[in-house]
Amino acid sequence: MSADSTMQGGPAQNASLQQRLLDPALQLLPKAFASLPPSAVERITRRLATPRFGYLPEGLDFIVSLVMGLHRQARTKSPQVLATFTRNLFLNAFVKSGPARQAVRDRNHGFAPELMVVSPTMRCNLKCTGCYSANYATADELKTNELDDLLMQAKGLGLYLVVVSGGEPFLHDDLLDLFAKHNDMVFMTYTNGTLLARNGRARRLAQLGNVLPCISVEGFEKETDERRGKGVFARILEAMAALREEGVIFGFSATPTRHNNELLVSDEFVDFYVDQGCFLGWYFNYMPVGRNPDVSLMPTPEQREYRRRRVQNLRKRKKIVIADFWCDGALVGGCLSGGNVYFHVNSRGGVEPCVFNQFSVDNIRDKRLVDIIESPYFSYIRGRITEMENPLRPCPIIDRPQILRDCVARFHPKPSQEGGEATITTLAPELNKYARRLQQVMDPVWEKEYCGRCEVGTEFHISRED
Ligand code: SF4
Repeated sequence: MSADSTMQGGPAQNASLQQRLLDPALQLLPKAFASLPPSAVERITRRLATPRFGYLPEGLDFIVSLVMGLHRQARTKSPQVLATFTRNLFLNAFVKSGPARQAVRDRNHGFAPELMVVSPTMRCNLKCTGCYSANYATADELKTNELDDLLMQAKGLGLYLVVVSGGEPFLHDDLLDLFAKHNDMVFMTYTNGTLLARNGRARRLAQLGNVLPCISVEGFEKETDERRGKGVFARILEAMAALREEGVIFGFSATPTRHNNELLVSDEFVDFYVDQGCFLGWYFNYMPVGRNPDVSLMPTPEQREYRRRRVQNLRKRKKIVIADFWCDGALVGGCLSGGNVYFHVNSRGGVEPCVFNQFSVDNIRDKRLVDIIESPYFSYIRGRITEMENPLRPCPIIDRPQILRDCVARFHPKPSQEGGEATITTLAPELNKYARRLQQVMDPVWEKEYCGRCEVGTEFHISRED
């Protein structure tokens, strides 16, 4: 450090001064927020959010439910969790990330991903029916130094939100140490939950404060144990109790199939997981990838429309933040893949457009992340998905299968697993049929419920062809 910088307060001193001012503020902010009455929080949120989301009722409801959920968390969670969460989510992911993300956007035709999904391992201690991870070679695993470097690269691109998937991520030996090392990031972790109540993991997660576990459930005990194995439901409840006691923010994730679609959006189901302490609930439509892909397990187009209405209804009434990336297409802006919003790094380092679109051209072992995101493959995908009309049928794998076929024909990506090309070969006729029916169901909904509002806030318009 030069003499000048010492006298004027060099970078290290400025950083520590910032820290000294910031830390108490981060402790105080959640407390001040928690002290506001819920009715005032809701009123203020509606007033502030209406100009931006007034045209889209589910958008406004989502923001209100998110803020009210955070308000409830602020009243009950440990100060360490709240301070770390506030810093990482609001300051780092939304503010500090700004210049780096702008630079990506400038080079990348206006696109900059907002989050990265990474699967450190495909090992799992369960064998669930239809799990997309089942076909990966279990020995393949990202090494700790590769993950560390990947997280550094992600921050360089302004990505502070990381979803950790798998396999069962908590089987990776060094995961918690990596969370500790990158304590300026938020890690949302998809887990089967069976390891969380053991070996003091829940307490460690509370101490870390930057991890939000989402535990996979299929319904209640019968449905969960049927797919995941006997006794799994009991261990999930044990994990939720441990997380609740330690003050960790957590949620559930659920996969609607043709058999449990209605159950998963019932009042009874949602109330049960609200009572367990879930802050959020994410729905992931069953996708015909992985072990024995089965199109007949996908919820029908009519079931998807039922779920869309139920999700909107539940969001207004329940004390939980709910999202469904297929049914909430209008809210999230259609398909998120290919670095439009996110991308997936699999356990062999292959970078896939989406966890379900398992075709990769590039690998983090050969190329920098920045070059992969800006590659012709990802640019082409972003171009195709953002020209889509009607985001209520957003998915290039199941809703508009021709898009996935075009991507594969043009760039010849490798399927990530043996048999991974089934979505574009053996399953193609059934997916075509499904997509045609979905269009018949969803286009009238889009036209009736959304089109009048198009010019106010959304770039999507209805189309009769594709
Ligand atoms: S490809 Fe399909 S599953 Fe993946 S983000 Fe897009 S809509 Fe969702």
